Amino acid sequence: MKKETICIQSGWKPKNGEPRVLPIYQSTTFKYETSEQMGRLFDLEESGYFYTRLQNPTNDCVAQKICELEGGVAAMLTSSGQAANYYAIFNICEAGDHVIMSSTVYGGTFNLLTVTMAKMGIECTVVDPDMTLEELNKAFKDNTKCVLAETIANPALVVLDIEKFATAAHSHNVPLIVDNTFATPINCNPFEWGADIVTHSTTKYMDGHAMSVGGCIVDSGNFDWSLYPDKFPGLCTPDESYHGITYTEKFGKAAYITKATAQLMRDLGSIQSPQNAFLLNVGLETLPLRMERHCYNAMEVAKYLEKHEKVAWVNYPGLESNKYYDLAQKYMPKGTCGVISFGLKGGREAASAMMDNLSLAAIVTHVADARTCVLHPASHTHRQMSNEQLIEAGVQPDLIRFSVGIEHVEDIIADLEHALSFV
Ligand SMILES: *Cc1c(COP(=O)(O)O)cnc(C)c1O
Repeated sequence: MKKETICIQSGWKPKNGEPRVLPIYQSTTFKYETSEQMGRLFDLEESGYFYTRLQNPTNDCVAQKICELEGGVAAMLTSSGQAANYYAIFNICEAGDHVIMSSTVYGGTFNLLTVTMAKMGIECTVVDPDMTLEELNKAFKDNTKCVLAETIANPALVVLDIEKFATAAHSHNVPLIVDNTFATPINCNPFEWGADIVTHSTTKYMDGHAMSVGGCIVDSGNFDWSLYPDKFPGLCTPDESYHGITYTEKFGKAAYITKATAQLMRDLGSIQSPQNAFLLNVGLETLPLRMERHCYNAMEVAKYLEKHEKVAWVNYPGLESNKYYDLAQKYMPKGTCGVISFGLKGGREAASAMMDNLSLAAIVTHVADARTCVLHPASHTHRQMSNEQLIEAGVQPDLIRFSVGIEHVEDIIADLEHALSFV
């Protein structure tokens, strides 16, 4: 099926007389006839539901839909995008291990790896996503377990050369994890270019209406963990907390997601609520339509800003003048995303003056939803970073992040025109 059809038809498949719409299984627990049956579920001998922290039917239907959209073999929902990236890495890393990460990743991911996971004994090398394959190869160590980057970096809008990163990761026998939040599976499927695991903050375009925080991890099933048992002992040697099950032997291509569910979700518990999964599913139904409009509107706004005399620079990978235009055409020929960044000739003060005079575009700590919104990362999301760290993360101190919604584009441009007259 094509993605438009998957978005509508996949996941919940009602049988005769069942509800047409995905039900919200708002239940912490599930009932069984015999104690023996329940015991087999706990041993992972049978699949079935017993406690929503581990699995819930509403969540599973939505995870299945995202899995099909990405072309993966298994997927799980998490309570947030942060939890998705944390679990995706922690599922294959422990104290003493090493991760390579693109410098332009989302600020929350940057902190997760360089501060919080560093405290857990997992070391992180931050690399420039534009470095050559040779330079990238030098970042690997014997204890490197994975590479992490974003398809389109938030908010730097750097487009990842996925093939280059996959080549480097695979030549060192480790998987490439790609955060595909901004491109969405509608505009890019990182698995087609060699990524092994995809993560999402479903909070953004997938939900699309700024209603629920959520995340998702999808496994392509292409990385053969069993070839490197010394590197990935958690997947390739018996799990004593599950009566000595070896995930790769028992679950094959579903090993990675099964371990993340059975072990990490069991112990850390960042589950998405079924209510949020239901809302996410409603968002997913219109994702292809919305992405088309987001991309169309963003392109028009970018072209408008590029010609404006008070605008110093515009960064949108859909613009032919953009540094990443060729990579964007290669990996996302249908369009990139609805987020634009730009700077004003008047710098930081001009940015504040303009933002305070916008009326349709709201100042919110959010991107990628139906309503146009705006943020100044240096004073908001990234305020804990030094100027050097900001520049390294591809965030100029004067950068305005403008998330173009799906309103009529003429109204969005009129709002900008009005606000820019105060600068
Ligand atoms: C927002 C975001 C995250 C974090 O997701 P939350 O749902 O806010 O926890 C991770 N990666 C990217 C690219 C994001 O934009």
